[in-house]
Order: sequence, then structure tokens, then C-alpha cells
Amino acid sequence: MQLPPDYHLHTPLCRHAQGEPVDYARRAAELGFSEIGFSDHAPMARDDFDDWRMLHSQLGEYVEKVRQAQREVPQLTIRLALEVDYLPGQEAWIQQLATEHAWDYLIGSVHYVTEDWAIDNPHQLARWQDHEISDVWCAYFDRLTQAAASGLFNIIGHADLPKKFGHRPAQDCTPLYRRLLAAAKSQACAIELNTAGLRKDCREIYPSRELLALAQAAGVPITFGSDAHRPEELGAGFAAAVQLARDVGYRQSLRFVGRTAQQQPL
Ligand SMILES: [Zn+2]
Ligand SMILES: [Zn+2]
Repeated sequence: MQLPPDYHLHTPLCRHAQGEPVDYARRAAELGFSEIGFSDHAPMARDDFDDWRMLHSQLGEYVEKVRQAQREVPQLTIRLALEVDYLPGQEAWIQQLATEHAWDYLIGSVHYVTEDWAIDNPHQLARWQDHEISDVWCAYFDRLTQAAASGLFNIIGHADLPKKFGHRPAQDCTPLYRRLLAAAKSQACAIELNTAGLRKDCREIYPSRELLALAQAAGVPITFGSDAHRPEELGAGFAAAVQLARDVGYRQSLRFVGRTAQQQPL
């Protein structure tokens, strides 16, 4: 089986990952990948927003590290991308970022459900105790739907991230999923199968089979990402992810070149 590209890889510039792009690239070549993409945490408009992403002044260094990996592992196709945090009101900043380098794709992710709470941050886990789980899920999916509808992104990252630590609402989430998927479909935006969930408390790929089946029925395309923060995590869980995608009916996934999608068989 030809593995689909691993499009969600981080670098030490984000301050919580290890291994240089060239190390990830060598690992990918060993594992038999033909294509990968770096999508490290993009800078915010204000560098002091938080402490788990590259600074704006480091963007050029990031691009050069990816270019170096391209030169040193020429048998591998290596894409240049970013994982961008979507926050309402940041659209102009994201548009500016999009023009600064020749990105192959942009992943739009929601980590922040308020201006200062990233729901996946283990250091902020106590914040969950102050909120109803269903309220957090609604707020999160509202933002993610806005991200998909913005047209700023090629891919929506880890679509049901609020399950990371096992916080699952009792209510039926189908309406939340359907609104997100309609927005994604309208902008030709893909969703990723992100295998990091397998390594977290939820022990499940993002998104769930339920959400992915709705995505397939809605005609929303897919990509794959390990969300690796170390070279050893590259490609982790891909066999399970491909199986899940095929189980719900997907026969193709997307690759991106210069922000243009191409279909490839799965
Ligand atoms: Zn990260
Ligand atoms: Zn993320």
C-alpha cells in the first residue's frame, strides 16, 4: 500500500517539538513515504500571545529548514505549510501570513475556545472543571465552522479536538458536525484524519468514525496527518487511519501543490 502523505509535522521552532525537518524527512523515506508536509504552529499577530509557536521573525528560518530537508532527501516530495490557529478577528493576519511564503497548503485549527484557553493544553486542563462539556463543544465547533467558512484554509485540523482528554458531551453532536461539513464543502476545504488522537487519552483518531462518515456523505475530501512532534511519531497510526477512511467509503485523498488540490487514489 502506498501511504498517503503525512501532512501534519512540527519542528523545534514551535518550542514543544524535537527533531529537525531533515530528521523527519529521513524517517519518512525509511518508512516508504513518497510525500510529507511540514505544518508547524504559525505565528500569531502578537508574538507574546502564547509560548508554543514560532515567532514571526522565525518564519524565514522555518522555510529554510524545510528547503534544506528538500535538498538533503531529494527522493521525497516535501511540502511547505503551516498549522494556523483560527481566532475570530484574525482573518486579516492570516491573509497576510498566506502571502509571506509559497505555502503548499494551510491547515486551519482551533485550539482556543476563548482568547486565553487552549482546550488541548494539558497545563490548562483544570479549566474544563469550570465549564459544561457540551458548552465547550458548541463553542469549539462554532469557531471551527467559522474557520472552514472563512475560505482561508485548505485543510481543517483535528476536527473533534475537544475529546482529547476524554471530555465527551451527552448530547447528539450531529447538528454541530453537519454545520461544519457544510461550511467545509462550500469552500472545497478538506478535513484531516489526524492520528495523534490515538496517542492521547481519547485513544481515537480525530475525527470520530461518526463525523468522518458524515463528511464522506457530504462530499468533503480528506488528508492524513500524524501531528508528529518527534520524528518517531511520523506516520504513526496511518494503517488504521487509511482503514477507517476506506471503511466509511473514501477511495481518494488530496495532496496539495501551491495551494491547489490534486486527488489521488487511496
Ligand atoms: Zn504542537
Ligand atoms: Zn493542532
